[in-house]
Amino acid sequence: MKFLIIIFSLLLTLFSCTLSVNTKPQFIMTVTGPKDVDQMGLTLEHEHIATDFTGAEKVTQPQYPVELAATFLLPYIQKLKATGVNTLIECTPEYIGRDVLLLRELSEKSSINIITNTGYYAAADKKYLPKHVYSESAEQLATRWVEEWENGIKGTGIKPGFIKLGVGKDTLDSVEQKIVKAGALAHLQTGLKIAIHTGSTIAANDEIDILEKKGVSARALIIVHAQHATSDEQIKLIKRGCWISLDGINQKPETIEKYTDFLITLKNAELLENVLISHDDGWSVIQKDDGAIGFELFGNGNEKPYTTIFEILIPELRALGFNQEDIDQLLIKNPAEAYKIEVCTN
Ligand SMILES: [Zn+2]
Repeated sequence: MKFLIIIFSLLLTLFSCTLSVNTKPQFIMTVTGPKDVDQMGLTLEHEHIATDFTGAEKVTQPQYPVELAATFLLPYIQKLKATGVNTLIECTPEYIGRDVLLLRELSEKSSINIITNTGYYAAADKKYLPKHVYSESAEQLATRWVEEWENGIKGTGIKPGFIKLGVGKDTLDSVEQKIVKAGALAHLQTGLKIAIHTGSTIAANDEIDILEKKGVSARALIIVHAQHATSDEQIKLIKRGCWISLDGINQKPETIEKYTDFLITLKNAELLENVLISHDDGWSVIQKDDGAIGFELFGNGNEKPYTTIFEILIPELRALGFNQEDIDQLLIKNPAEAYKIEVCTN
């Protein structure tokens, strides 16, 4: 009898969820508001614009006037739009310089979609975690993130389009577990997908375990920096249901070779539909010798931001047998599928 009740309630949940998805279309949330998923177009799914690596609660962020930053950064974003990129997913979390007013300004002036995030980053020895993470429960942290979704970020009215978290390389410690649990709870209340900076395959598997225990499908999870895993590990992660993000593409020949090898292996395994690619480019806030605040391009192997995929990787992939459909899968279809928000009221 108990078994029948469980089956019945499961069917009921599935049925009403389907109804709810039918009546509430899927969408994305950009810094200028909600948009249809098909308005994403060509997308760079893991990039940064302005970041501040000073550390949580050390300075008031942003350390610069928005207009100064916008004037410096706008030409790069306009150039990106001119190359055909229509959406940039900005992965800088709060306490590492997330600046949603700057993002909105750049989006409005360049007509590019920018998607920002909610959530906390526990990698890098927890340098970017605010103190309240240690005293609050997963439920309390989730409430903070859901509040940003419901009412906008810090009075701006700008809403996050995904949950961005970060964990280190080892099996997750109690703080990291708490953050991932909070991400799962916030996902269940908002439909926002969860992208996690993940230092190793061990950590990635821990994340999937936690999500599944909370009733969240691994399909809602993007394993960020899966380039640190081997091809075999990447395939095993995909088979657990999550997305993998290969997001450190730079112009060094050895990097291009590494990423083309990964992508050929995934194409041959017919798993390209679970893969995302990006550069992880951006600028960090620096204090110049005269004390003024400036921006310095990440030293991640790219001399020009946001260009290597188009100028080097794609020509290389084409030469190796990738067709337009494969390229569109990686840069249009998959980002839309991975980051679309599906509201289910159950
Ligand atoms: Zn990043």
